[in-house]
Parts: sequence; C-alpha cells; structure tokens
Amino acid sequence: MKKNSMEPKLFASITSFVIIVVAVVALLIISNRGMASAMGDKNAMLNEETFALQRKQMVERQIANRGVADERVLEAMETVPRHLFIPEDFRSYSYFDQPVPIGYGQTISQPYIVAFMTEILQLNKDDIVLEIGTGSGYQAAVLAKLAKQVYTIEIVAGLGNRAKKQLQTMGFDNIEVKIGDGYNGWPEHAPFDAIIVTAAAEKIPQPLIDQMSPSGRMIIPVGGVFEIQELILITKDASSKVVKESIFPVRFVPLTRQ
Ligand code: SAH
Repeated sequence: MKKNSMEPKLFASITSFVIIVVAVVALLIISNRGMASAMGDKNAMLNEETFALQRKQMVERQIANRGVADERVLEAMETVPRHLFIPEDFRSYSYFDQPVPIGYGQTISQPYIVAFMTEILQLNKDDIVLEIGTGSGYQAAVLAKLAKQVYTIEIVAGLGNRAKKQLQTMGFDNIEVKIGDGYNGWPEHAPFDAIIVTAAAEKIPQPLIDQMSPSGRMIIPVGGVFEIQELILITKDASSKVVKESIFPVRFVPLTRQ
C-alpha cells in the first residue's frame, strides 16, 4: 500500500519536471528565433547604411573628383541604390571603381562611366530618352531620375525581365523595358531628345541617328571587340545637321544582333 501511494507522486513530479523542461526549451527556441530575426533586420539596416556611405564616397572620389560637375547627375548617382541592381554574388563590389558582372556574360558599367555618359546627354526634366542595352536596369534608373520618360531595350530576355521587375519593385513608373534587338531603335516612341547605347557597335546604327530629335544628343561606344573602342558623342543641331565628336577610349561588351 505504501509503495503504491508513493508512485503517483513520483509520476506527478517527473511529469511536471518534463513539462517545465519542454516549456523552457520552447521558450529558448522562440526567443532565439526572435533574436536571430531582429539581428537579421539589424544587419540588413547596417548593410544599407554601409552601402549609402560607400555610395557617397563613390560620388566624391570616383565621379566628382574626375570632373563630373552636374549637381543633378551627382545627386542621382548618390540616390540610386546601385547594389540592388547587382546579383548577390557580386553585391559587395557594387561601389568599386570598376564594371561588375551581372550574369549572362554581361557587366554593369563602372560608376564613373555611367555618370559621365549621363552628364554628357545634358538631360532636361521633360526629355524622352532611349537606352540600348538595359542590362541590370541601373543606367535606366539613373536616367529616369533626370528625364521625363526612359525607353530601354535589352536583347537578353533574362536580363531584360529581371531589370523590369527590379525597376517596378523600386517604384520607377517612367521606364519602359522592351526585349529585342535595339539596333533599329524604337520607332513608335521616336524622336528622342537623348539616346544612350551601352554596348559597343561596330558602326553607328543609322536608325538611331534617324530617331534623334532636332537638337538631340546620342552617346555611343564604337569599335569592334578586339579594337580600341571610342566613346562618340553625336549631336543634331536645330536644323538636324549631324556632328560627331570622339570623346575618349573605352571598353564595352559588344552590341550583338538578332
Ligand atoms: N546599361 C546596363 C549595362 C549594360 S551592358 C546597366 O546599367 O546595367 C550592355 C547590355 O547590352 C547587355 O546587357 C547586352 O545584353 C545588351 N545588348 C547587346 N546588344 C544589344 C542589342 N542589339 N540590343 C539591345 N541590347 C543589347
């Protein structure tokens, strides 16, 4: 009898011990998860702060320092989060003074080149711009900060669709992305106040010259893959007379054809 009356007590205390242990472990797991996610959020915030600082330094050291002086261009370069256009694997290189791979064998141009090509287009806030070579969508985003509307064409569907999604996510509502060969421009939206080609053409595509508006500007790298390429500025005067001017040597991925 004595033995029997002891057993339920022992059983009860073992049960409550187990319940307490389970509860403590569960609490530990939950609070740990909470901590981890809070720390994750904090890390993400720290990253954003770091990227913003890197972006500020990029503008000062790589861009303003080398002579880009247009305040609107500098502001756009400081505002657009370049790292969000770069695949995660290469994100830590986002603000380096160099082009960075974006997949499909393509690259996003060096920050200075993006700023220089943007500045030379002398954009007004009601300009209509055409870009050939959307790539990551970054250059289009910079242009969209300074112009009224940007039309951009990308020949690699994977890149074009990714850029489109990214630009939408970021709330750009004045950029239209089309998948296709940009050689023939985008006649439905021509004429353009400014045209920027971000892949090197063997020769300047005539359809692009035709789609420049009077007083329009076009910047385009020209030259074969194994040749020295030149950045060429083309301007039309008010009477549509075309003038070409060589700016400096550059290296771009080639303009391919469909
Ligand atoms: N402006 C881009 C950099 C692009 S690299 C950025 O900010 O990220 C050049 C891009 O031009 C590549 O994505 C390449 O696929 C694209 N391209 C090459 N030939 C093209 C063509 N004929 N029409 C449209 N895009 C082309």
